[in-house]
Amino acid sequence: MTDVIRFSAARTAAAIAAGELSALEATQAALDRIAKVDDRINAFLHVDVDGAVAAARDVDRRRAAGERLGPLAGVPLALKDVLTARGMPTTCGSRMLEGWKPPYDATVVSKLRAAGVVIIGKVNMDEFAMGSSTENSAYGPTRNPWDTDRIPGGSSGGSAAAVAAFETPISIGTDTGGSIRQPAAVCGLVGVKPTYGGVSRYGLVAFSSSLDQAGPLARTVTDAALLHAAIAGHDPLDTTSIELPVPGVVAAAASRDLRGVRIGVVRELSGDGYDIGVRARFSDALEVLVGLGAEVVEVSCPHFTYALPAYYLIAPSECSSNLARFDAMRFGLRIGDDGEAGAEEVMTRTRGAGFGAEVKRRIILGTYALSSGYYDAYYGQAQKVRTLISQDFAAAYERVDVLVSPTTPTVAFRLGEKIDDPVAMYLSDLCTIPSNLAGGPAMSLPIGLADGLPVGFQIMAPTFADDRLYQVGGALEAALDAARGHPFLDDAPAL
Ligand code: GLN
Repeated sequence: MTDVIRFSAARTAAAIAAGELSALEATQAALDRIAKVDDRINAFLHVDVDGAVAAARDVDRRRAAGERLGPLAGVPLALKDVLTARGMPTTCGSRMLEGWKPPYDATVVSKLRAAGVVIIGKVNMDEFAMGSSTENSAYGPTRNPWDTDRIPGGSSGGSAAAVAAFETPISIGTDTGGSIRQPAAVCGLVGVKPTYGGVSRYGLVAFSSSLDQAGPLARTVTDAALLHAAIAGHDPLDTTSIELPVPGVVAAAASRDLRGVRIGVVRELSGDGYDIGVRARFSDALEVLVGLGAEVVEVSCPHFTYALPAYYLIAPSECSSNLARFDAMRFGLRIGDDGEAGAEEVMTRTRGAGFGAEVKRRIILGTYALSSGYYDAYYGQAQKVRTLISQDFAAAYERVDVLVSPTTPTVAFRLGEKIDDPVAMYLSDLCTIPSNLAGGPAMSLPIGLADGLPVGFQIMAPTFADDRLYQVGGALEAALDAARGHPFLDDAPAL
Protein backbone atom coordinates (compact mmCIF):
# COMPACT_ATOMS: atom_id res chain seq x y z
CA MET A 1 0.00 0.00 0.00
CA THR A 2 2.07 2.87 -1.28
CA ASP A 3 -0.41 5.61 -0.35
CA VAL A 4 -0.56 4.71 3.35
CA ILE A 5 1.02 8.07 4.17
CA ARG A 6 -2.02 9.79 2.63
CA PHE A 7 -4.50 7.86 4.80
CA SER A 8 -6.35 9.79 7.45
CA ALA A 9 -5.68 8.70 11.04
CA ALA A 10 -9.16 7.15 11.23
CA ARG A 11 -8.55 5.12 8.07
CA THR A 12 -5.07 4.05 9.20
CA ALA A 13 -6.44 2.80 12.53
CA ALA A 14 -9.37 1.05 10.85
CA ALA A 15 -7.03 -0.72 8.43
CA ILE A 16 -4.82 -1.81 11.33
CA ALA A 17 -7.79 -3.03 13.38
CA ALA A 18 -9.06 -4.98 10.36
CA GLY A 19 -5.68 -6.62 9.81
CA GLU A 20 -5.25 -5.04 6.36
CA LEU A 21 -2.24 -3.04 7.49
CA SER A 22 0.13 -3.57 10.40
CA ALA A 23 1.07 -0.80 12.80
CA LEU A 24 4.67 -1.55 11.91
CA GLU A 25 3.97 -0.95 8.21
CA ALA A 26 2.24 2.35 9.03
CA THR A 27 5.21 3.38 11.16
CA GLN A 28 7.69 2.33 8.49
CA ALA A 29 5.76 4.35 5.90
CA ALA A 30 6.04 7.44 8.12
CA LEU A 31 9.76 6.86 8.72
CA ASP A 32 10.38 6.40 4.97
CA ARG A 33 8.46 9.58 4.17
CA ILE A 34 10.48 11.52 6.74
CA ALA A 35 13.70 10.18 5.21
CA LYS A 36 12.47 11.26 1.78
CA VAL A 37 11.20 14.79 2.44
CA ASP A 38 12.27 16.12 5.81
CA ASP A 39 15.59 17.54 4.65
CA ARG A 40 13.44 19.99 2.64
CA ILE A 41 10.87 20.62 5.40
CA ASN A 42 12.90 20.44 8.65
CA ALA A 43 9.89 19.47 10.76
CA PHE A 44 11.63 16.84 12.89
CA LEU A 45 14.20 17.66 15.57
CA HIS A 46 14.35 14.07 16.76
CA VAL A 47 13.11 10.82 15.20
CA ASP A 48 12.68 8.03 17.73
CA VAL A 49 13.02 5.02 15.41
CA ASP A 50 13.47 2.43 18.16
CA GLY A 51 10.67 3.75 20.36
CA ALA A 52 8.26 4.03 17.42
CA VAL A 53 9.01 0.53 16.15
CA ALA A 54 8.59 -0.91 19.65
CA ALA A 55 5.25 0.90 20.12
CA ALA A 56 4.02 -0.29 16.71
CA ARG A 57 5.05 -3.88 17.43
CA ASP A 58 3.17 -3.71 20.72
CA VAL A 59 -0.03 -2.66 18.91
CA ASP A 60 0.41 -5.49 16.40
CA ARG A 61 0.98 -7.97 19.22
CA ARG A 62 -2.13 -6.81 21.06
CA ARG A 63 -4.21 -7.11 17.91
CA ALA A 64 -2.87 -10.61 17.25
CA ALA A 65 -3.86 -11.52 20.83
CA GLY A 66 -7.43 -10.53 20.01
CA GLU A 67 -7.49 -7.28 21.98
CA ARG A 68 -9.95 -4.63 20.81
CA LEU A 69 -7.90 -1.63 19.73
CA GLY A 70 -8.80 2.03 20.26
CA PRO A 71 -9.66 4.37 17.36
CA LEU A 72 -6.07 5.67 17.05
CA ALA A 73 -4.10 2.52 17.84
CA GLY A 74 -1.07 2.19 15.58
CA VAL A 75 -1.37 5.70 14.12
CA PRO A 76 1.94 7.63 13.79
CA LEU A 77 2.08 11.05 15.47
CA ALA A 78 4.52 13.97 15.65
CA LEU A 79 4.92 15.64 19.05
CA LYS A 80 5.76 19.31 19.51
CA ASP A 81 9.10 19.56 21.27
CA VAL A 82 7.63 21.46 24.21
CA LEU A 83 6.03 18.34 25.74
CA THR A 84 8.13 15.89 27.69
CA ALA A 85 8.38 12.26 26.62
CA ARG A 86 10.61 9.81 28.43
CA GLY A 87 13.47 8.50 26.27
CA MET A 88 13.48 11.51 23.95
CA PRO A 89 15.14 14.91 24.26
CA THR A 90 13.00 18.00 24.90
CA THR A 91 14.57 21.20 23.54
CA CYS A 92 11.63 23.63 23.23
CA GLY A 93 13.44 24.83 20.10
CA SER A 94 16.09 26.38 22.34
CA ARG A 95 19.84 25.97 22.87
CA MET A 96 19.04 26.32 26.55
CA LEU A 97 17.71 22.78 26.74
CA GLU A 98 19.91 21.12 24.12
CA GLY A 99 20.55 17.54 25.15
CA TRP A 100 18.08 17.57 28.07
CA LYS A 101 16.22 14.31 28.47
CA PRO A 102 13.25 14.62 30.80
CA PRO A 103 12.74 11.72 33.21
CA TYR A 104 8.95 11.67 32.82
CA ASP A 105 6.07 11.71 30.33
CA ALA A 106 3.68 14.65 29.99
CA THR A 107 0.10 13.57 30.72
CA VAL A 108 -0.75 14.14 27.04
CA VAL A 109 2.04 11.68 26.18
CA SER A 110 0.91 9.05 28.71
CA LYS A 111 -2.58 9.28 27.25
CA LEU A 112 -1.26 8.90 23.70
CA ARG A 113 0.79 5.86 24.69
CA ALA A 114 -2.25 4.33 26.42
CA ALA A 115 -4.27 4.87 23.22
CA GLY A 116 -1.64 2.95 21.22
CA VAL A 117 -0.61 6.04 19.25
CA VAL A 118 2.91 5.67 17.86
CA ILE A 119 5.03 8.72 18.71
CA ILE A 120 7.44 9.06 15.81
CA GLY A 121 9.47 11.91 17.25
CA LYS A 122 9.71 15.54 18.32
CA VAL A 123 9.00 18.42 15.98
CA ASN A 124 10.34 21.94 15.54
CA MET A 125 8.87 25.09 17.04
CA ASP A 126 9.61 28.71 17.77
CA GLU A 127 11.85 28.90 20.84
CA PHE A 128 9.72 28.29 23.95
CA ALA A 129 6.63 28.69 21.69
CA MET A 130 7.26 32.41 21.09
CA GLY A 131 6.59 33.25 17.48
CA SER A 132 4.32 32.84 14.47
CA SER A 133 6.69 31.41 11.85
CA THR A 134 9.01 28.82 13.46
CA GLU A 135 11.88 31.08 12.41
CA ASN A 136 12.69 31.64 16.10
CA SER A 137 13.83 28.04 16.51
CA ALA A 138 17.49 27.59 17.42
CA TYR A 139 17.49 24.62 15.01
CA GLY A 140 16.64 26.46 11.79
CA PRO A 141 13.22 27.27 10.34
CA THR A 142 10.66 24.71 9.24
CA ARG A 143 9.27 25.18 5.72
CA ASN A 144 5.69 25.18 4.49
CA PRO A 145 5.04 22.08 2.34
CA TRP A 146 2.74 24.14 0.06
CA ASP A 147 5.65 26.43 -0.83
CA THR A 148 9.00 25.76 0.79
CA ASP A 149 10.01 29.42 0.52
CA ARG A 150 7.21 30.27 2.95
CA ILE A 151 6.69 29.91 6.69
CA PRO A 152 4.61 27.02 8.08
CA GLY A 153 3.26 29.31 10.80
CA GLY A 154 4.20 29.05 14.42
CA SER A 155 4.93 28.35 17.02
CA SER A 156 3.74 24.79 16.20
CA GLY A 157 5.22 25.00 12.68
CA GLY A 158 6.88 21.59 12.89
CA SER A 159 3.61 19.96 13.99
CA ALA A 160 1.74 21.53 11.05
CA ALA A 161 4.41 20.90 8.41
CA ALA A 162 4.81 17.23 9.42
CA VAL A 163 1.10 16.59 8.81
CA ALA A 164 0.82 18.73 5.66
CA ALA A 165 3.90 16.99 4.19
CA PHE A 166 2.31 13.57 4.87
CA GLU A 167 5.06 12.59 7.30
CA THR A 168 2.47 11.69 9.97
CA PRO A 169 -1.35 11.83 9.78
CA ILE A 170 -1.70 13.73 13.08
CA SER A 171 0.36 15.81 15.48
CA ILE A 172 0.20 17.64 18.78
CA GLY A 173 0.78 21.38 19.00
CA THR A 174 0.31 23.96 21.73
CA ASP A 175 -1.58 27.22 21.54
CA THR A 176 -0.91 30.21 23.80
CA GLY A 177 -2.06 32.93 21.42
CA GLY A 178 -2.80 31.00 18.24
CA SER A 179 0.08 28.58 17.80
CA ILE A 180 -2.08 25.62 16.80
CA ARG A 181 -4.67 27.48 14.72
CA GLN A 182 -2.35 29.83 12.82
CA PRO A 183 0.00 27.08 11.54
CA ALA A 184 -3.04 24.89 10.79
CA ALA A 185 -4.49 27.74 8.73
CA VAL A 186 -1.38 28.44 6.66
CA CYS A 187 -0.66 24.73 6.08
CA GLY A 188 -4.26 23.81 5.18
CA LEU A 189 -5.01 21.68 8.25
CA VAL A 190 -7.58 21.33 10.98
CA GLY A 191 -6.18 22.61 14.30
CA VAL A 192 -7.94 22.95 17.62
CA LYS A 193 -7.19 24.79 20.83
CA PRO A 194 -9.34 23.02 23.42
CA THR A 195 -11.01 24.83 26.32
CA TYR A 196 -8.37 25.98 28.82
CA GLY A 197 -8.24 23.30 31.52
CA GLY A 198 -9.64 20.66 29.18
CA VAL A 199 -6.24 19.11 28.39
CA SER A 200 -3.59 18.64 31.07
CA ARG A 201 -0.56 20.95 31.04
CA TYR A 202 1.52 18.55 33.15
CA GLY A 203 4.77 18.06 31.23
CA LEU A 204 4.08 20.98 28.87
CA VAL A 205 7.02 23.36 29.38
CA ALA A 206 5.30 26.59 30.43
CA PHE A 207 5.40 29.75 28.33
CA SER A 208 2.35 31.60 29.68
CA SER A 209 0.62 29.30 32.14
CA SER A 210 -2.78 31.00 32.12
CA LEU A 211 -2.98 30.72 28.31
CA ASP A 212 -1.07 27.57 27.21
CA GLN A 213 -3.11 24.63 25.95
CA ALA A 214 -2.13 21.54 23.95
CA GLY A 215 -4.33 20.30 21.12
CA PRO A 216 -4.63 18.35 17.89
CA LEU A 217 -3.54 19.07 14.31
CA ALA A 218 -4.93 16.80 11.60
CA ARG A 219 -6.04 16.65 7.96
CA THR A 220 -9.72 16.10 8.77
CA VAL A 221 -12.17 17.27 11.42
CA THR A 222 -12.82 13.67 12.50
CA ASP A 223 -9.10 12.96 12.97
CA ALA A 224 -8.79 16.11 15.08
CA ALA A 225 -11.77 14.97 17.17
CA LEU A 226 -10.30 11.50 17.73
CA LEU A 227 -7.01 13.02 18.88
CA HIS A 228 -8.77 15.64 21.01
CA ALA A 229 -10.77 12.91 22.78
CA ALA A 230 -7.60 10.86 23.33
CA ILE A 231 -5.68 13.64 25.13
CA ALA A 232 -8.46 15.46 27.01
CA GLY A 233 -9.79 14.88 30.50
CA HIS A 234 -9.19 15.83 34.12
CA ASP A 235 -5.68 15.34 35.51
CA PRO A 236 -4.90 15.62 39.23
CA LEU A 237 -1.29 16.49 38.29
CA ASP A 238 -2.42 19.83 36.82
CA THR A 239 -4.18 22.10 39.30
CA THR A 240 -5.78 24.13 36.49
CA SER A 241 -7.27 20.99 34.92
CA ILE A 242 -11.06 21.06 35.12
CA GLU A 243 -13.09 18.14 36.44
CA LEU A 244 -15.78 17.95 33.78
CA PRO A 245 -16.56 15.23 31.24
CA VAL A 246 -14.83 15.58 27.85
CA PRO A 247 -17.34 17.11 25.40
CA GLY A 248 -18.62 14.68 22.75
CA VAL A 249 -16.32 15.90 20.02
CA VAL A 250 -16.15 12.68 17.95
CA ALA A 251 -19.92 12.33 17.60
CA ALA A 252 -20.23 16.06 16.84
CA ALA A 253 -17.70 15.79 13.97
CA ALA A 254 -20.13 13.54 12.09
CA SER A 255 -22.72 16.32 11.87
CA ARG A 256 -23.83 17.30 8.37
CA ASP A 257 -26.72 19.61 9.10
CA LEU A 258 -26.67 23.00 10.78
CA ARG A 259 -30.37 23.78 10.96
CA GLY A 260 -31.09 25.93 13.99
CA VAL A 261 -27.40 26.73 14.62
CA ARG A 262 -26.75 30.45 15.13
CA ILE A 263 -23.39 31.69 13.87
CA GLY A 264 -21.98 35.12 14.73
CA VAL A 265 -19.46 36.84 12.46
CA VAL A 266 -17.21 39.01 14.64
CA ARG A 267 -17.31 42.50 13.17
CA GLU A 268 -13.98 43.50 14.72
CA LEU A 269 -12.15 40.58 13.06
CA SER A 270 -12.43 41.63 9.43
CA GLY A 271 -11.88 44.58 7.16
CA ASP A 272 -8.65 46.48 6.57
CA GLY A 273 -5.44 44.51 6.87
CA TYR A 274 -7.00 41.24 5.70
CA ASP A 275 -5.92 39.82 2.32
CA ILE A 276 -8.56 40.12 -0.39
CA GLY A 277 -8.28 36.38 -1.04
CA VAL A 278 -8.77 35.59 2.65
CA ARG A 279 -11.89 37.75 2.75
CA ALA A 280 -13.29 36.15 -0.40
CA ARG A 281 -12.85 32.58 0.88
CA PHE A 282 -14.36 33.63 4.22
CA SER A 283 -17.49 35.03 2.53
CA ASP A 284 -17.79 31.87 0.39
CA ALA A 285 -17.67 29.72 3.54
CA LEU A 286 -20.39 31.81 5.19
CA GLU A 287 -22.62 31.14 2.20
CA VAL A 288 -21.98 27.41 2.52
CA LEU A 289 -22.98 27.60 6.20
CA VAL A 290 -26.22 29.36 5.27
CA GLY A 291 -26.84 26.60 2.72
CA LEU A 292 -26.46 24.04 5.52
CA GLY A 293 -29.29 25.70 7.40
CA ALA A 294 -27.32 27.90 9.81
CA GLU A 295 -28.44 31.39 10.68
CA VAL A 296 -25.54 33.80 10.15
CA VAL A 297 -25.57 37.22 11.85
CA GLU A 298 -22.99 39.90 12.56
CA VAL A 299 -21.93 40.34 16.19
CA SER A 300 -19.81 43.06 17.75
CA CYS A 301 -17.14 42.28 20.33
CA PRO A 302 -15.78 45.80 20.90
CA HIS A 303 -12.91 44.93 23.25
CA PHE A 304 -11.34 42.41 20.84
CA THR A 305 -9.48 45.42 19.43
CA TYR A 306 -7.39 45.46 22.62
CA ALA A 307 -6.71 41.72 22.72
CA LEU A 308 -3.32 41.92 21.00
CA PRO A 309 -1.79 44.59 23.28
CA ALA A 310 -3.23 42.89 26.38
CA TYR A 311 -1.75 39.55 25.28
CA TYR A 312 1.67 41.13 24.66
CA LEU A 313 1.72 42.26 28.29
CA ILE A 314 0.25 39.15 29.92
CA ALA A 315 2.18 36.50 27.95
CA PRO A 316 5.63 38.17 28.36
CA SER A 317 4.89 38.82 32.07
CA GLU A 318 4.15 35.16 32.70
CA CYS A 319 7.08 34.04 30.54
CA SER A 320 9.53 36.28 32.40
CA SER A 321 8.59 34.40 35.55
CA ASN A 322 8.32 30.90 34.02
CA LEU A 323 11.68 31.11 32.23
CA ALA A 324 13.50 32.07 35.42
CA ARG A 325 13.86 28.33 36.03
CA PHE A 326 16.46 28.14 33.25
CA ASP A 327 19.27 29.20 35.54
CA ALA A 328 22.17 27.01 34.37
CA MET A 329 21.95 25.10 37.64
CA ARG A 330 19.09 22.68 37.07
CA PHE A 331 18.51 22.13 33.34
CA GLY A 332 20.46 21.81 30.13
CA LEU A 333 23.01 24.41 29.20
CA ARG A 334 25.75 25.75 31.49
CA ILE A 335 28.23 28.25 30.13
CA GLY A 336 31.25 29.92 31.73
CA ASP A 337 31.54 27.62 34.75
CA ASP A 338 35.34 27.94 34.79
CA GLY A 339 35.81 27.33 38.49
CA GLU A 340 36.29 31.05 39.12
CA ALA A 341 32.92 32.53 38.17
CA GLY A 342 30.17 32.67 40.80
CA ALA A 343 26.66 31.26 40.32
CA GLU A 344 25.21 34.60 39.26
CA GLU A 345 27.92 35.11 36.66
CA VAL A 346 27.38 31.60 35.25
CA MET A 347 23.65 32.26 35.15
CA THR A 348 24.18 35.50 33.27
CA ARG A 349 26.54 33.95 30.74
CA THR A 350 24.27 30.95 30.21
CA ARG A 351 21.07 32.93 29.78
CA GLY A 352 22.89 35.36 27.50
CA ALA A 353 24.11 32.55 25.27
CA GLY A 354 21.20 30.12 25.60
CA PHE A 355 18.18 32.30 24.81
CA GLY A 356 17.48 33.75 21.38
CA ALA A 357 16.55 37.37 20.61
CA GLU A 358 12.76 36.98 20.78
CA VAL A 359 12.84 35.16 24.11
CA LYS A 360 15.11 37.86 25.55
CA ARG A 361 12.81 40.58 24.22
CA ARG A 362 9.84 38.99 25.99
CA ILE A 363 11.68 38.45 29.27
CA ILE A 364 12.73 42.11 29.30
CA LEU A 365 9.21 43.27 28.40
CA GLY A 366 7.60 41.06 31.03
CA THR A 367 10.05 41.99 33.76
CA TYR A 368 9.39 45.67 33.04
CA ALA A 369 5.59 45.23 32.99
CA LEU A 370 5.67 43.44 36.35
CA SER A 371 8.06 45.83 38.08
CA SER A 372 6.62 47.72 41.04
CA GLY A 373 5.57 51.15 39.90
CA TYR A 374 4.52 49.87 36.47
CA TYR A 375 2.54 46.81 37.50
CA ASP A 376 -0.83 48.60 37.70
CA ALA A 377 -0.26 50.60 34.54
CA TYR A 378 0.61 47.57 32.38
CA TYR A 379 -0.08 44.11 33.79
CA GLY A 380 -3.05 45.29 35.88
CA GLN A 381 -4.62 47.10 32.92
CA ALA A 382 -4.10 44.11 30.66
CA GLN A 383 -5.90 41.86 33.15
CA LYS A 384 -8.84 44.26 33.15
CA VAL A 385 -8.96 44.14 29.35
CA ARG A 386 -8.93 40.36 29.62
CA THR A 387 -12.08 40.52 31.75
CA LEU A 388 -13.77 42.84 29.25
CA ILE A 389 -12.97 40.40 26.44
CA SER A 390 -14.51 37.53 28.41
CA GLN A 391 -17.60 39.69 28.91
CA ASP A 392 -17.78 40.37 25.15
CA PHE A 393 -17.75 36.62 24.54
CA ALA A 394 -20.42 36.02 27.18
CA ALA A 395 -22.69 38.69 25.68
CA ALA A 396 -22.18 37.32 22.16
CA TYR A 397 -22.99 33.76 23.25
CA GLU A 398 -26.38 34.93 24.50
CA ARG A 399 -27.22 35.60 20.85
CA VAL A 400 -25.28 32.93 18.94
CA ASP A 401 -23.93 29.39 19.43
CA VAL A 402 -20.50 29.96 17.87
CA LEU A 403 -18.46 32.91 16.64
CA VAL A 404 -16.45 32.86 13.42
CA SER A 405 -13.68 34.84 11.70
CA PRO A 406 -10.79 34.25 9.35
CA THR A 407 -8.03 32.47 11.33
CA THR A 408 -5.27 34.73 10.04
CA PRO A 409 -5.30 38.06 8.19
CA THR A 410 -2.98 36.71 5.46
CA VAL A 411 -1.89 33.46 3.84
CA ALA A 412 1.59 32.07 4.57
CA PHE A 413 4.21 34.79 4.16
CA ARG A 414 7.77 34.34 2.91
CA LEU A 415 10.57 33.19 5.18
CA GLY A 416 12.44 36.25 6.41
CA GLU A 417 9.64 38.65 5.46
CA LYS A 418 8.70 39.66 9.02
CA ILE A 419 11.67 38.48 11.05
CA ASP A 420 12.98 42.00 11.64
CA ASP A 421 9.56 43.46 12.41
CA PRO A 422 8.21 41.89 15.61
CA VAL A 423 4.99 43.92 15.56
CA ALA A 424 4.11 42.74 12.02
CA MET A 425 4.82 39.18 13.21
CA TYR A 426 2.58 39.66 16.27
CA LEU A 427 -0.32 40.71 14.00
CA SER A 428 -0.52 37.12 12.68
CA ASP A 429 -2.44 36.27 15.87
CA LEU A 430 -4.95 39.10 15.75
CA CYS A 431 -7.93 36.75 15.39
CA THR A 432 -6.77 33.87 17.55
CA ILE A 433 -5.74 35.64 20.78
CA PRO A 434 -9.24 36.51 22.15
CA SER A 435 -10.04 32.81 22.73
CA ASN A 436 -6.83 32.29 24.68
CA LEU A 437 -7.53 35.30 26.87
CA ALA A 438 -11.08 34.13 27.63
CA GLY A 439 -10.28 30.40 27.77
CA GLY A 440 -12.85 29.17 25.25
CA PRO A 441 -12.11 26.56 22.59
CA ALA A 442 -11.44 27.42 18.94
CA MET A 443 -10.78 25.57 15.69
CA SER A 444 -9.22 26.46 12.37
CA LEU A 445 -10.15 24.48 9.28
CA PRO A 446 -9.19 24.94 5.62
CA ILE A 447 -11.78 26.59 3.38
CA GLY A 448 -9.89 26.93 0.11
CA LEU A 449 -6.95 28.61 -1.54
CA ALA A 450 -5.95 32.21 -2.18
CA ASP A 451 -2.98 32.73 -4.49
CA GLY A 452 -2.50 28.97 -4.38
CA LEU A 453 -2.08 28.96 -0.60
CA PRO A 454 -4.45 27.66 2.12
CA VAL A 455 -6.93 29.92 3.91
CA GLY A 456 -8.20 29.07 7.40
CA PHE A 457 -11.65 29.60 8.90
CA GLN A 458 -11.87 30.06 12.68
CA ILE A 459 -14.77 28.79 14.80
CA MET A 460 -14.94 29.82 18.49
CA ALA A 461 -17.26 28.40 21.16
CA PRO A 462 -18.02 28.90 24.85
CA THR A 463 -15.88 27.07 27.41
CA PHE A 464 -16.54 23.33 27.50
CA ALA A 465 -18.68 23.53 24.37
CA ASP A 466 -15.78 22.17 22.29
CA ASP A 467 -18.26 19.84 20.55
CA ARG A 468 -19.83 22.85 18.80
CA LEU A 469 -16.56 23.48 16.95
CA TYR A 470 -16.68 19.96 15.58
CA GLN A 471 -20.37 20.13 14.73
CA VAL A 472 -19.93 23.27 12.63
CA GLY A 473 -16.48 22.27 11.35
CA GLY A 474 -17.58 18.75 10.41
CA ALA A 475 -20.58 19.99 8.43
CA LEU A 476 -18.58 22.74 6.69
CA GLU A 477 -15.74 20.38 5.78
CA ALA A 478 -18.15 17.79 4.33
CA ALA A 479 -19.94 20.41 2.24
CA LEU A 480 -16.66 21.85 0.91
CA ASP A 481 -15.26 18.38 0.14
CA ALA A 482 -18.46 17.49 -1.73
CA ALA A 483 -18.33 20.68 -3.79
CA ARG A 484 -14.62 20.21 -4.56
CA GLY A 485 -15.00 16.48 -5.23
CA HIS A 486 -12.07 15.52 -3.00
CA PRO A 487 -10.52 16.27 0.42
CA PHE A 488 -8.65 19.60 0.71
CA LEU A 489 -5.22 18.08 1.24
CA ASP A 490 -5.38 16.21 -2.08
CA ASP A 491 -4.40 19.54 -3.63
CA ALA A 492 -1.20 19.76 -1.58
CA PRO A 493 2.06 19.48 -3.57
CA ALA A 494 3.48 15.96 -3.78
CA LEU A 495 7.01 17.04 -2.70
N1 GLN B 1 2.51 33.98 18.06
C1 GLN B 1 2.13 34.18 19.44
C2 GLN B 1 3.34 34.55 20.24
O1 GLN B 1 4.35 34.70 19.67
C3 GLN B 1 1.46 32.94 19.98
C4 GLN B 1 2.40 31.88 20.37
C5 GLN B 1 1.75 30.67 20.88
O2 GLN B 1 0.53 30.49 20.76
N2 GLN B 1 2.54 29.81 21.49
O3 GLN B 1 3.30 34.66 21.43
